[in-house]
Amino acid sequence: MSLLVIPKETHPGENRVPMTPATVKKMVRSGAEVEIETGAGAGSGYSDAEYTEAGASIASDRTAMLGKADVVVRLHKPALEEIPRIKEGAIHISYLDPFNERELVEAMQARNISAISMEMIPRTTRSQKMDALSSQANLAGYVMVLMAANKLNSILPMMMTPAGTLKPARVFIIGAGVAGLQAIATAKRLGAKVTAFDTRPVVAEQVESLGGKFLQIDLGETGQTKDGYAKALTEDQLQKQKEGQAREIAESDIVITTAQVFGRKPPVLVTRDMVEGMRPGSVVVDMAAETGGNVEGSVASEEVEINGVTVIGVGNWPNKVCRDASDMYSNNLFNLIADFWDEEGKSLVLDFEDDILQGCVITHQGEVVNETIRNHYA
Ligand code: NAD
Repeated sequence: MSLLVIPKETHPGENRVPMTPATVKKMVRSGAEVEIETGAGAGSGYSDAEYTEAGASIASDRTAMLGKADVVVRLHKPALEEIPRIKEGAIHISYLDPFNERELVEAMQARNISAISMEMIPRTTRSQKMDALSSQANLAGYVMVLMAANKLNSILPMMMTPAGTLKPARVFIIGAGVAGLQAIATAKRLGAKVTAFDTRPVVAEQVESLGGKFLQIDLGETGQTKDGYAKALTEDQLQKQKEGQAREIAESDIVITTAQVFGRKPPVLVTRDMVEGMRPGSVVVDMAAETGGNVEGSVASEEVEINGVTVIGVGNWPNKVCRDASDMYSNNLFNLIADFWDEEGKSLVLDFEDDILQGCVITHQGEVVNETIRNHYA
């Protein structure tokens, strides 16, 4: 029987919990023994009592808990200094940022840990239910619109009243992946006039089906990878994009940037001049502020003002709706574990013939087994 443990998240300000009592109940029903660190669910409104009722035991000694776990589940990547405390040979499931966290990955490799990186789960039809990048990005898209609306000095919908007619706010979304599409849908529901741009031309139809307008900028060949991710633009294409969207930005009340290129730093798409060219009182939200930023002048984890324009870079957007975010992440984790759960041995068994595990297991039995990451480190 496997012991699955849930340590309390230590990332500053984090309120999400990787596994909810409902999921714990399902794990216990599958035959797992579950231990959770005391207070781990409190930020999302889940008490220790609810976890006990679901069948978990409550642990107060984090080190002892990590030292005996067969499976560790968490949200954020573990701290480097915590790796030696994890039982050798354990399976560890969390975000890992493996492209940028070589030292951490190698520490897990040296400890014989099987590290699963949630961001590396392939975007296939079968893995949709395990896809935490999507579940959390979807909520981020919603949250960013609400934060921007809350900061804007005008309203989003058109209003015709005896006191005058108010025009709808103009919202421009850069990047129409999972977060961007939810931002478009949310801004539309609030009555804004929405325009969006993405380098993947296939997205135009999705933007339009949500009632948004797709900004046409001719960048030449852009395309996408076999997994549906954007390819990095050339310097020349980036310049064309900046020129093509400059006017839209200047005329927008809210600009939300969600552009990412898988495995790379996000591209800088909104220059300081463009921010300064917006009407005072407007709002820019930079989803990527914590990883380098799409917007020049945005500050990670902060809200700043540039020439009267509020630039929001607070990050960790799903944390603002931590209850739903925890529920979704927890379901993603359960769906991943359930697919590889051995009913008889009541344990998690990694099957390396499986394409999902080939994509997301980074280290196993003292090796970096993930081909993409191994090539990246070479
Ligand atoms: P992402 O977070 O990697 O990037 C966000 C968006 O930014 C993408 O749409 C990308 O094209 C765009 N972008 C990159 N550079 C840009 C630039 N210079 N200007 C404007 N936009 C730019 O993407 P994501 O939200 O994780 O989704 C990536 C793809 O994966 C999408 O096609 C999505 O539909 C697909 N997907 C598939 C599944 C599945 O089938 N299981 C699940 C989730 C997502």
